[in-house]
Amino acid sequence: SKVLVTGATGFIGIWVTRTLLEKGYSVRGTVRSERKGKYVLDYFKSYGEKFETVIVEDISKEGAFDEAVEDVDAIAHVASPFHFKADDPQDIIGPAVNGTLGVLKSALRNNPTLKRVVITSSCATVLETLPEPKVFSELDWNEQCLKQVEEKGKAASNGAKYQASKTLAERAAWEFYEKHKSEISWDVVVLNPPYVFGPVIHEVPSRGSLNQSSSDLLDALIAPSTSASAMSTETLTTDGSCWIDVRDLAEAHTKALETPDAGGERIITSAGAYIWQDLIDVAQGLSPPAVLPPQYKLAVGVPGGGKGAIPKIDYDTAKAARILGMKYRSREDTIRASIEKVLNRGW
Ligand code: NDP
Repeated sequence: SKVLVTGATGFIGIWVTRTLLEKGYSVRGTVRSERKGKYVLDYFKSYGEKFETVIVEDISKEGAFDEAVEDVDAIAHVASPFHFKADDPQDIIGPAVNGTLGVLKSALRNNPTLKRVVITSSCATVLETLPEPKVFSELDWNEQCLKQVEEKGKAASNGAKYQASKTLAERAAWEFYEKHKSEISWDVVVLNPPYVFGPVIHEVPSRGSLNQSSSDLLDALIAPSTSASAMSTETLTTDGSCWIDVRDLAEAHTKALETPDAGGERIITSAGAYIWQDLIDVAQGLSPPAVLPPQYKLAVGVPGGGKGAIPKIDYDTAKAARILGMKYRSREDTIRASIEKVLNRGW
């Protein structure tokens, strides 16, 4: 059967595409331009006609996906802006919400035999910044970011703007699904991953164009002497997040497409919590040592300095284990790949 993957040129999208192709699916990937499509067509050329591209220049344009959704059995909607650079919150909320609604509207209009839509949401729609540590679950929603963006507009933090884009997009998807449930042949599954790390296989012409999460990890792992954007010691030893390997997340997407019981569910997929320094310690402790190109050195930070810090945010992942049978790669595996399979680009 054939799956439409939106954002097939991105960090996660290309991995979802690759994993589906490896499992024998045909994939149609959306790309913004013919030029960007060339890279993925070349990357997947061994799959011949099983991989094709369709140009969707801007996901927020009305009817952008009308053609793309035709005749596919399922959709993985991965495309959405992920950066911390929006000035006006609408610059990021617009494409996130309209992109998601656009896929669903086109599916409703143009694909009467569709079976499932999997949407890549985020833990950004779940978490809040609270005074005490909390284990969040699928029942939690990030109201905080919405309030901040509403009250502060352009002055809201860049994190809050991104979180609001994902929260409003996911909410719009659930509202659309509830409204049209009785008239459609398909259902919706939402995946909520935290920070995604791991090997980078998409086109990245420069350090500056690296996707946000891979870039943030390098800010922690690369020594300040060889990095223009290294994290402060304070951040390294007190701050952190949760993570999943991009290969595990791609696997979660295929499981979400294949598992009947996943229909209508919101599912958090997280391998666990960390303090940034913990990841440096993992990188330093790799055996054999990670191989870096000569222009980079591994950060040292404050060895063991993350041990005393309690992660503020963690997730209950029982649902992903129960419904999708999710298992996660080790930190060592992910951190090695995040160094060796990211810094091998020559920049
Ligand atoms: P990337 O930036 O690598 O990928 C985003 C993809 O979406 C790219 O293919 C991009 O195309 C496309 N895209 C963005 N805006 C538009 C637009 N207006 N019109 C057409 N295409 C667009 O990021 P990721 O792979 O990391 O993110 C993919 C998804 O995963 C997003 O929904 C993100 O919110 C979600 N996510 C990511 C996490 C992470 O840590 N990486 C964590 C949780 C969720 P182009 O590159 O050509 O602009």
